[in-house]
Amino acid sequence: MSSFESLANPRISGLATYEPGRPIETVARELGFSDASQIVKVASNENALGPSPRAVEAMQRAAVEMHLYPDGGCFQLREALAQKLDMDPSCILPGNGSNEVLELLGRVFLNERSGIVMADRAFVVYRLIAEACGAGVVEVPMHNHCHDLDAMLAAIRPETRIVFISNPNNPTSTIVSPEHIDRFMDKVPGHVLTCFDEAYVELLAPELRPDTLRYVREGRNVVIMRTFSKAYGLAGLRVGYAVAPAECIALLHRVRQPFNVNAMGQLAAVAALEDDAHVEQTRQCVREGLAFFDAAFREMGLSAVPAHANFVLVDVGNGRAVFEAMMKKGVIVRPMSVYRMDRHVRITIGTAAENIRTLTVLQEVLKETGTAA
Ligand SMILES: *Cc1c(COP(=O)(O)O)cnc(C)c1O
Repeated sequence: MSSFESLANPRISGLATYEPGRPIETVARELGFSDASQIVKVASNENALGPSPRAVEAMQRAAVEMHLYPDGGCFQLREALAQKLDMDPSCILPGNGSNEVLELLGRVFLNERSGIVMADRAFVVYRLIAEACGAGVVEVPMHNHCHDLDAMLAAIRPETRIVFISNPNNPTSTIVSPEHIDRFMDKVPGHVLTCFDEAYVELLAPELRPDTLRYVREGRNVVIMRTFSKAYGLAGLRVGYAVAPAECIALLHRVRQPFNVNAMGQLAAVAALEDDAHVEQTRQCVREGLAFFDAAFREMGLSAVPAHANFVLVDVGNGRAVFEAMMKKGVIVRPMSVYRMDRHVRITIGTAAENIRTLTVLQEVLKETGTAA
């Protein structure tokens, strides 16, 4: 009898499956909660305030047109982004989430003879995509949970094709400063594409946002990835985009599906882009939530990584046990074993009420299990 595993491309047989945050409905079903609204999910860095009301309205209007294929070229969305970012539309490629952009990058630039450089506790999807392409992965240790750009430069080899810099980084919530990025870009060799994953950049205070778009305008070998999943609150629609020199974008177009971004997603994203007030409210909510957890963790004697995005990484002693125990009480956080951080959980900033509930449940669990510190 033939097994599917033995028939599969050997590269694929060895791959691990990405484990997303646990969905509310799944947890409700498994734990026998009759009401899913009793459950707080703070596991996937979603926007606690939900989508912009303007995006919701656009989706409602669009619902009756869903028998039509989307605009495969995403004309309106590219125009809106181009204007917002002051870039040429030919430098922008929308994707089915920025995760699709990552996959396109892999297909265009990676193979068995090439490799990537990434930080050892940067977004795990970089490694999964590279492995699926048969490319080598060099993981460079982080320094105080931050990207060590000098060490990453030193790790570049002749076969390196992509260096991934996740800024702010998931799962550590740390940033690299604009000065460090400039220094990196001064030294990075010409055969390497630098990919800045800026999934959370809209949440940063303006002075902490590096001007990476400048490198695209200068025609450098860079790709910037952004998303509507976080600050814009549209994770369920799956819309992200790449910004890169037009020649690079043209290569990515060759491997994408003809209708890679769905119609509702395109319309909602355009509407969300116009709602600066919603993004500002989101920023405010995140700022307050981070301050709340920072004060609480200090008082509890827990060590957390200083956070810049809408989530915080905290040392709770036994991350898996705390995750399981909190889930039984209806609060879903994220264990960090895939990042080899067995002592930590990652907690997304919620609404004020969700933050209080999360903290209360964490305190109960730590008392009961007697872990931490
Ligand atoms: C959430 C996240 C993304 C966004 O993924 P989408 O596919 O756009 O939803 C990308 N990179 C990082 C580091 C993230 O945390």
